Amino acid sequence: MGRNKGIVVPGDFLGTTEEFTSGMGVYDEEGNLYASQIGEISISDKRVINVLPVVETPPILEEGDVVLGRIEDIKDTVAIVSIACVKGKEKREIAAPTQGIIHISNIKKGYVSELKQEFGYLDVIKAKVLDVKTLRLSTEERDLGVIKAICMKCKGDLERKGNVLRCERCKRVETRKISEDYGKGMI
Ligand SMILES: [Zn+2]
Repeated sequence: MGRNKGIVVPGDFLGTTEEFTSGMGVYDEEGNLYASQIGEISISDKRVINVLPVVETPPILEEGDVVLGRIEDIKDTVAIVSIACVKGKEKREIAAPTQGIIHISNIKKGYVSELKQEFGYLDVIKAKVLDVKTLRLSTEERDLGVIKAICMKCKGDLERKGNVLRCERCKRVETRKISEDYGKGMI
């Protein structure tokens, strides 16, 4: 059975091609349909399944909001995040800008020597808004950080193995600032 409510993230299983026709924001892998973006599931009466962006422009954020987004770029001291939605306030009124940043000092408690050890390109992350003017985000708390990631080498799904992530396909091991919600799917 496909899901019909809630927010999905890239790679979440939606159903099969026997149940649905794939629409926007959905990809087909051997008859299984998966979300290709963060969004809300919408099913038309002709059984076309879509994953639609929750907001077309980003929400007005408040300090302390928990947001979901993807890592768009990794620099020496900051990771750039494109914010997709605010947890629990998906329908809130919206305005620019969309990009937040995570400074190396706000990733986790303790010293971080290299940002690339904590985040990877296109990781789906959950973070808290520290400052609304600069859109500075934090992933320090246990439930914050990376919730979904793909292998940098083969793009396979990374599965959590203790404190690291391991690629099911090529067995590569990668490190991240992992959220305790990693891999749980629906948020
Ligand atoms: Zn791999």
